[in-house]
Amino acid sequence: MFIEYIALDHTRPCLAELGKIIIVGKPSRPIDAVLPLLNALLPNVISYNPRAGALVLRRKLGFITLLADTIIITQVKDVDEGLELLNAARDLLNQTWEQREMIQPRNEERRTPRPLDVWELLPRTNCRECGEATCMAFGFALMEARRRVDECKPLRVADAAAQRETLRELLGNYEAANSVWRTSE
Ligand code: SF4
Repeated sequence: MFIEYIALDHTRPCLAELGKIIIVGKPSRPIDAVLPLLNALLPNVISYNPRAGALVLRRKLGFITLLADTIIITQVKDVDEGLELLNAARDLLNQTWEQREMIQPRNEERRTPRPLDVWELLPRTNCRECGEATCMAFGFALMEARRRVDECKPLRVADAAAQRETLRELLGNYEAANSVWRTSE
C-alpha cells in the first residue's frame, strides 16, 4: 500500500458554485512519486507541472488538484461526498503505485486548459470589479496573459485560497509569461 489514508484537513465554501464546498485533504505520505504515473495514465489530466509537483484533473463538475502533500477538490456537494472522493483518490493512488512497473511515467509538462475550465474556477458573478464585463471575459484575459488571478478581487479572500491555487496551477506558465511581459513594459 502506498498511502494509508487521505485525511480531511478542512473545507471551504466553493466560490465557483454557491452552496458547494471545496475539500482539502492531507495524504498520510507525500504523493509526488505517483503524479508522473497518473499523468501517463489518466485521460482527464488538464495540467501537470513537474517542477511544482502539481497535477490538475477535471471531474464531471469541478477539479481535483494533487500536490505532494495536499489534495484539493472543488464543487463538492457536502462533507460526505468529499470523504468518498478522498477515499477514491487514495484507492486510485494505491492502484496506480501497485502497477508502476507497467506504466511508463510521463514527466513532461502539460497544459491544456480550456476557457470553460478557467471560467468554472472564477466566482461567475459578473460583478465587474476587475473591469471586465463578465467573468468569461476575465477568463479569456487570464489565458491570454493580459490579466493576473489576483486582479479578481472576490478571489482574494482567504476562503478562495484553494480555488486560487487550482486556477494558478491550471494557468501555470500563462501567469509566469504575464509577469515577464509586465516587467518588460
Ligand atoms: S472581478 Fe471579474 S472575474 Fe472576478 S467575479 Fe467579478 S467579474 Fe468575475
